[in-house]
Amino acid sequence: MSDQNVHELIIIGGGPAGYTAALYAARADLAPLVIEGFNWGGQLMITSDVENYPGYADGVMGPEMMADFRRQAERFGAEYVTDNVTKVDFSEQPLRVWVEDEEYAARAVVIATGASARWLGIESEEKHKGRGVSACATCDASFFRAKDVYVVGGGDSAFEEALFLTKFATRVHLVHRRSEFRASKIMVDRAEQNEKLDFVPNAVVEEIIGDVKVQGLKLRNTITDELREVPADGLFVAIGHDPNTALFKDQLDHDEGGYLITKPGSTETNIPGVFAAGDVQDHIYRQAVTAAGSGCMAALDAEKFLAAMEGHPGTAPTAPRP
Ligand code: NAP
Repeated sequence: MSDQNVHELIIIGGGPAGYTAALYAARADLAPLVIEGFNWGGQLMITSDVENYPGYADGVMGPEMMADFRRQAERFGAEYVTDNVTKVDFSEQPLRVWVEDEEYAARAVVIATGASARWLGIESEEKHKGRGVSACATCDASFFRAKDVYVVGGGDSAFEEALFLTKFATRVHLVHRRSEFRASKIMVDRAEQNEKLDFVPNAVVEEIIGDVKVQGLKLRNTITDELREVPADGLFVAIGHDPNTALFKDQLDHDEGGYLITKPGSTETNIPGVFAAGDVQDHIYRQAVTAAGSGCMAALDAEKFLAAMEGHPGTAPTAPRP
């Protein structure tokens, strides 16, 4: 590949982290190529109103916000490939990225492919996503003021979501498929002391009932197999997230959950020139605003890396073979 065809920066992923990295990189004249994914926008595309992103004082619809992010980066010269990356090779410079048979190369790459909430995988869940079924209490809890809601899961996320929901809902029921919880003791203690919260152990959600709105749930007892229907206004699925790192796991350091590991206080991965931002490397905060913040960090880190490469062409950092 000739030098002319090598981009300064490729950004993989079109969510808050990717588009913010693109905005900063475009304004720094790096002409970033954003391979944004076929379904660009990330998790915000399934969120209705976003009320906690600073700057949108009246709230904004998730998809509209992502379109704003995208347009803002485009205004400064970011270019988009609306498709999914299928392969990468970070073993040497230039770093290479493929979309099927199409090969792209760059001196630096920002990975911002995000994470995906795990869902129950039942048909009625698909129908009600964003309309009473959510995977993010921080985003959607306030729409359930004075309502009766269920949370599924037995880990820290489920407890955190359930406790947060008690600030809004009249009643919160935590459904878990076993009777022991994976969540930390302190979370379980806190939940047990909360009068608005009760537990439905040894149960799974078989079906979400309702035409337009959620009206109830069909629960199955995992020990007796008995089915029962309960009234409900909403369902929060909190059974974990999976980072979208399948493409990178054999080349980049990651933790046991598959999240990419970055050096503390930076977005650098173990390969020089490869940076990671947003939920793909953060399983703690997972907010649009924190993802955007780390997207900004990644662009600044990439800019510094590229400047160092330019200043010392003979000593350009070479990616180690994984
Ligand atoms: P997690 O610990 O993996 O828990 C997932 C829960 O969902 C488990 O209880 C699991 O049941 C249940 N589950 C999985 N698939 C299911 C299905 N198909 N149907 C019904 N239930 C299902 O995930 P997490 O709660 O998101 O936590 C992830 C990590 O982040 C953990 O390390 C956690 O400690 C951390 N975290 C920490 C905090 C905090 O400290 N404030 C908050 C949130 C998350 P089983 O138990 O039966 O497997």
